[in-house]
Amino acid sequence: MMRLIILGAPGSGKGSQCKWITKDYDVPHISTGDILRKNIADGTELGMKAKEYMDKGELVPDELVIDILKARLDEEDCQEKGFLLDGFPRTVAQAEALDSYLQERDMEIDKVINLDVPDEEIMSRAINRRTCENPNCKEIYNLRDNPPRVEGICDKCGSKLFQRPDDNEETVTNRLNVYHKQTEPLIEYYSKTGKVSTVVGQELLEDTIALVKGVLENL
Ligand code: AMP
Repeated sequence: MMRLIILGAPGSGKGSQCKWITKDYDVPHISTGDILRKNIADGTELGMKAKEYMDKGELVPDELVIDILKARLDEEDCQEKGFLLDGFPRTVAQAEALDSYLQERDMEIDKVINLDVPDEEIMSRAINRRTCENPNCKEIYNLRDNPPRVEGICDKCGSKLFQRPDDNEETVTNRLNVYHKQTEPLIEYYSKTGKVSTVVGQELLEDTIALVKGVLENL
């Protein structure tokens, strides 16, 4: 049982870390971005509301995101195994809502991993990022450092790769500005609890994985 938060700018590689953490530690991976994208794909009312913000790289209003997050945390797997939060909280109001949710249930966060990557690197990664469209795979490629063997096709499952519509230069710039203004203050917010470990994102994914492993092994 582990309750983890991974903080970091959009595109810092949180998703790649979450993939192995969720497997190795058997902890549910909760990505509010994934939940919102699924709602858009399913054409739900929530999805339609969220899409206009997401396409611009702006944050979806707190009340919408807080409600979907709480509903997800209420599910049995999270109650039994804990959770790995990816992309939530993104504002102090969200962090406070999460704190009260946890306090009411006598639960605590074990660790906040802060993944630190420079903006220029994030931009380069984002415009080169491709993701497998198969929801059971979601493998991530990078045309610069980690291209698929066959263009546009996932090595692992053979499904098509796609570029997230929000991975264009204008939206990424906007997302980074939003991150610095609204989400970065959370590093200080959580520092007060003494639970933040900052990991500097390395060029090679394996190297970043090794650093994060070092943090989690000491829990
Ligand atoms: P992500 O996949 O985490 O990069 O999220 C993609 C987009 O979904 C973000 O740019 C926001 O528009 C929206 N989003 C995801 N999580 C949140 C959140 N916790 N609060 C507000 N908006 C969010």
